Order: sequence, then structure tokens, then C-alpha cells
Amino acid sequence: MLNRWVVMPTCLPTVLRRCHACASERFRANGKFRVNAHHKLLDAWLLVLCTACGETAKLTVFERMNVRSVRPELLDRMHDNDPGLAAELLQDPVVRRRNRIALDWDNVWRLDTGGSDHLDREVIDVSVRFAARIPVRPVRLIADGCGLSRAEVERLITEGKLVSAVRLSGKLSGDFTFTLKR
Ligand SMILES: [Zn+2]
Repeated sequence: MLNRWVVMPTCLPTVLRRCHACASERFRANGKFRVNAHHKLLDAWLLVLCTACGETAKLTVFERMNVRSVRPELLDRMHDNDPGLAAELLQDPVVRRRNRIALDWDNVWRLDTGGSDHLDREVIDVSVRFAARIPVRPVRLIADGCGLSRAEVERLITEGKLVSAVRLSGKLSGDFTFTLKR
């Protein structure tokens, strides 16, 4: 039987970017947007606040877009300050590159294993799904999910008892499966 685990975000990630008002490099989105209209052209930003001094910075979502080429649904979500839209935009590599930001997902995700019943079995097949592209170490994930230490997980990998089609060392942010035999 295949067990399904999910890596779930618990809130928006921290935005890494230098603050112009203080030395901090950490910002938080609160799901607020600003849209400016100039004749028929629209600019839109996602607002983020410095976690140290509260200074607001604007992350460009789009610039000088003709009002007719912007989906009305997108504008509605911005006017409603939709936090789900903030999450989608922060995960968009184009938005991240345009604004030269990186994300820190530390402590803003959890692993949902759907209970621990499967952990007693001799062979465990697990499919891990990422609800957001959160970079995590599979070794840490498997240790948390199976109630093992990271050293034990490393040993199981070395002994060939923990196998996957992906490399389990390093970090991953996409779906994978693994099999654990004890
Ligand atoms: Zn600041």
C-alpha cells in the first residue's frame, strides 16, 4: 500500500532582500497589493514589510500593462488582497528574478503523514507531494515522518534499505517516492 505524505506551507515564506532603511534582509508579505492606474496602463505590486523596522517594500508583479491585457480576475484578487495570490506570486520564479528576491521557508511548513499506522510495517512505500515548492532535505523529512534520527536515516540509505529514484542527499522541492525496508 502506498502512503501519501504532503509537505504543506503553514504561512507565507520570508522574503530575503536588503532593506534600504535598516540592515535587515528579511521581509514578510501580509497579502497586501497596490495597483496604480496611469491612463490605460497599470502597475501592480505585492507589498512586503521589513521584519526589523517595518519599512514597506514593493515587489513588482507587472508594470505598464494595458488594462485590457490584465485578467479581471487577477485584478479582483489584488483588490481583495488575496493571500493565496501572494503565495502564488512569491513561488513564481519570474517574479523572484524580476525583484531579485529569494525565499526562506524555515519554520513555515509542516509534514502531514496522515497518521503513524504505516510505520510498523516491514516495508513502507511513501509518495511525498509538495503543496508548494518548498526546498527541504529528504533525509530530514523521512526522519521526521518515520520517527527516526537523521543518522539512522543516513545509515538506512547507506545499507540500501531506503531507496528512491531521486537523490536523497541534498535538497528537493518536488514530488518523490521512496521505499523503506527494515
Ligand atoms: Zn528595515
